[in-house]
Amino acid sequence: MFVDYFNIDNARNYCYHSRDSSSKRVGIMQKRLSPSSMNTFKTCPAQYNYHYIERAPGIYVPRHHMDLGQYVHDAIQDYFDGASKKPTKSLEITQRIDSSFDKIIGNKFVGQPEMMKKLRSCLKNFKEFEIYRARKWKTYEPTFIEKNLQDDDFRGIVDFYSEPEATVIDWKTGYKQNLNDNDTMQAEVYRYLLEKQGYAVKRVFFVVLTNGTVLQAQLQKDGWVLEQQKQILDSIAAKNFPARPNRYCFNCVYQIACEFSDTNLWDDYL
Ligand code: SF4
Repeated sequence: MFVDYFNIDNARNYCYHSRDSSSKRVGIMQKRLSPSSMNTFKTCPAQYNYHYIERAPGIYVPRHHMDLGQYVHDAIQDYFDGASKKPTKSLEITQRIDSSFDKIIGNKFVGQPEMMKKLRSCLKNFKEFEIYRARKWKTYEPTFIEKNLQDDDFRGIVDFYSEPEATVIDWKTGYKQNLNDNDTMQAEVYRYLLEKQGYAVKRVFFVVLTNGTVLQAQLQKDGWVLEQQKQILDSIAAKNFPARPNRYCFNCVYQIACEFSDTNLWDDYL
């Protein structure tokens, strides 16, 4: 992937993967892919190799956007922990959301105008989406939120799932107008993992909290995600890790290692 550093969904998978001691066992690490690791590989195999195989140290890159995304997800989780089963008034929703955002985020981004603007947009659009959902959906409360799912092949953290609606919701805190291949991969991994556990999935929504857009993933034919997995695992087995420069390289923690990967410092610079 690019690791989309402005995308908390990828960032959470990225961090999760790093924390998991079992992933040090390379066989398991390569076999059980997450949407984040698959998209890293698809976008830049070299970045995948640095992070997931070599475990190379990265340089510091600012992570304000990633932090904000994590806090927003935490605030949303806090909201659902105490939300009404079926709110009848908008005020029930908005007051509870305000309270969760205050509790979890508070003044953390005061003094950072760009982050504050983003946070205000996320708060406003989350409230509007929840008011809409409370009116339209028969069952308001989620079946589960922030659920860590995995099997022998895949792993992923599902933000929100409603069994009565057979719907997955993924909250996005980056700037996004359209869905791309990475989002399709993410949706299909979630669908695969949920269906394997007996949950139906008819819709996967990406709710872009920064601009209030709701994007629905186009679900693929059954088996699609297994084909993607096979292609990736075959390339990994062949040790095929070309660098693919992209518009997110400036945020890549391996940009120095990548730039000098073909260089012998002693011969080329001294
Ligand atoms: S800096 Fe190099 S390794 Fe990082 S994403 Fe760009 S091309 Fe890939």
